[in-house]
Amino acid sequence: MKTTILGYPRIGNQRQLKKICESYWAEKTDKNTLLDVGRSIKKDNWILQKESGIDLIPSNDFSFYDQVLDTCLTFGCIPKRYNNLKQGDKLDLYFAMARGLQKNDHDLTAMEMTKWFDTNYHYIVPEFEKEQTFEFFSSKIVDEYKEALALGIKTKPVLIGPVTFLLLGKEKESNFNKIDLLDRLLPVYCEVINALVDLDVEYIQFDEPCLALNLNNAEREAITYVYEKLHAEFPNLKVFLANYFDCYGENLETALKLPVDTLHLDLVRCTSQLDDILESKLFNPKTKLSLGLVDGRNIWKNNFEASLNFISKASQKLIPENIWISSSCSLLHSPHDLDLEHNETNLPAEVKQWLAFAKQKLEEIATLKGLSSNYKAEYLTLFEENKLANLKRSTSSLIHNQAVKSRVGSLNDTHSQRKSNFTNRQQEQKKVLNLPLFPTTTIGSFPQTKDVRSWRLQLKKGTLSQKEYDALIAKETEKTIRFQEEIGIDVLVHGEYERNDMVEYFGEKLNGFAFSSFGWVQSYGTRCVKPPILFGDVSREHPMTVKWSKYAQSLTELPVKGMLTGPVTILQWSFVRNDQPRVITCNQIALAIRDEVIDLEQNGIHIIQIDEPAIREGLPLRKEEWKNYLNWAVKAFRISASGVKDTTQIHTHMCYSEFNDIIENIANMDADVITIETSRSEMELLDAFVDFKYPNEIGPGVYDIHSPRIPSVEEIEHLLIKAKNVLPKEHIWVNPDCGLKTRDWPETKTALINLVKAAKKLRTEV
Ligand code: GLN
Ligand code: ZN
Repeated sequence: MKTTILGYPRIGNQRQLKKICESYWAEKTDKNTLLDVGRSIKKDNWILQKESGIDLIPSNDFSFYDQVLDTCLTFGCIPKRYNNLKQGDKLDLYFAMARGLQKNDHDLTAMEMTKWFDTNYHYIVPEFEKEQTFEFFSSKIVDEYKEALALGIKTKPVLIGPVTFLLLGKEKESNFNKIDLLDRLLPVYCEVINALVDLDVEYIQFDEPCLALNLNNAEREAITYVYEKLHAEFPNLKVFLANYFDCYGENLETALKLPVDTLHLDLVRCTSQLDDILESKLFNPKTKLSLGLVDGRNIWKNNFEASLNFISKASQKLIPENIWISSSCSLLHSPHDLDLEHNETNLPAEVKQWLAFAKQKLEEIATLKGLSSNYKAEYLTLFEENKLANLKRSTSSLIHNQAVKSRVGSLNDTHSQRKSNFTNRQQEQKKVLNLPLFPTTTIGSFPQTKDVRSWRLQLKKGTLSQKEYDALIAKETEKTIRFQEEIGIDVLVHGEYERNDMVEYFGEKLNGFAFSSFGWVQSYGTRCVKPPILFGDVSREHPMTVKWSKYAQSLTELPVKGMLTGPVTILQWSFVRNDQPRVITCNQIALAIRDEVIDLEQNGIHIIQIDEPAIREGLPLRKEEWKNYLNWAVKAFRISASGVKDTTQIHTHMCYSEFNDIIENIANMDADVITIETSRSEMELLDAFVDFKYPNEIGPGVYDIHSPRIPSVEEIEHLLIKAKNVLPKEHIWVNPDCGLKTRDWPETKTALINLVKAAKKLRTEV
């Protein structure tokens, strides 16, 4: 048996790549230094894997920005607007495509970005035209193979497969089907493969995670066509075909018939497929199987006992030489190294012993091989340690809280039902809140200036006392309340200055969460996130937001909106426990938020917003699983929102969403008001709500907060009129697209003044 992985994190264990890229972009570092840092990260990763006992090490899994953008460069898939840059330096062209370029006489927009399958990683979306041509443009994959070879390591270059590459892209014209570009693309793939084969490359890993999606026949046929063709062209090449994030599902038959050397299975996301494959008549026992046993998407220690069961099952049908022990997917989605974690307050030793980050996962893979070999005895202590850690986890009092479990167990329909229906609630709320037509509000956060962030840092370092910190936050909050009063906003917010991040803030206050200090995971480009570790039953000891909301409300006669993060978003943006179904964890969070909502109400807060920006990204990859997910996700939101009186108005907020195929479920959340992001699409995203006759109130965003640009009164009015033409006027709210956290004060002030002016103008016109 041999070991391999599908890819390794490339940001560097100290986020070196982030720092050097940002410095290069700011023109504070030269290109050679940047390339040096890249080389040293690759080298460290390769050597680490080698020393950990990985037999077949990937290359070309490194990237200065994104692996899909790398693929675009490899195949010369470069949108025309960058043509002038094609003669120059390829790395600068690459960064211009990733980030746009506004310099000298260039004013180029960046390419779009979207989520990589159901992860929180964002890739650059390839752009295709009908007359799209391809060429072997960047030799990165070849160069990196040589780079590793110079270190004595013969790697397995990783390449996104042609079908997945095409399916990930966007058709920039409407008169063609991108899959038809295959005939033009495949010859260039062959050229690239040729260059690799010339260097004696033995294995190439083709990532085709589109096999985890619902494919149509043409798409499945494309898979067959590609891999038959590659086999015909390169009969000696060993094709390592990687599907991950879900089962092969209805694509299994297609996959089993392919003339490939190895099929990779994600046995974390799809435990049943090993049986399916081994029992299938189509399975050719000469095909190698790569068993993706070690979870690349989460931070829990592997369960060696369970993994060995899979291995022994495979061994009954396959000779050991035909079995790879592997990670479920690329380790790109795991943080780097647990050994760096020494902060006991954030990450207690008891919790730490249950975890494995990327580096530890390499060791796990090697140990699994050891345990399956003739030298088993040397590894038995590690096996026992693993067994003990997992046993301790399953019984730890840190994790298991009987009161929480019983509370979730006794949930019934009344918990997810407001007292009256929306129409009644709307009338009751009108009487109490007394808001004008087209009420104005914001989404929650106000600018998190350098000062605000430095106070938090100083508090952490101990150079500011809690009292001093609180006083500064109070002052900033008051300033924000006064500003909103002055310019005439109707429903105020406190500004969220006390929060570092909308999930981390709640995680820190809830039981059941731990935090790493260096557990960074790439989100896109140089942006990294450090998801909280949700390890145990979730409960709320004390109110989490009442103090600041109550304080803000005490400053003004106008209503101040309470601000919470919803259960699905907290779940979605954390590393979640794998010892119980996600729905149970989500309901535990929902109950904690519900208690907070009730406490806010009892403390005089009459409008409460529960943000759920992550509802859509939680959708499973396969459509047949959507219904189940949407049912429990919507229900969890309703549990959090339904403990209050009819007169209390519940808002929710969602950004970066397409609502078309989930609008019924969004309506079913039954929030009194929903605010959404719509301004960049010129209200296009509103169509789903209009077509569905969305019954409750809605605030379509009229100000794009992602850009420092200030929208004029006329522009905002124009968007509002669009909304007014299609929605009942009594249902419309006026607000920005999202929170103002990343903006600066000067532009925020002017933009909001314009927003209020536009709303007032509209009121006089009805
Ligand atoms: N209330 C949050 C804020 O304004 C919402 C952020 C979000 O939707 N991502 O920052
Ligand atoms: Zn938002």
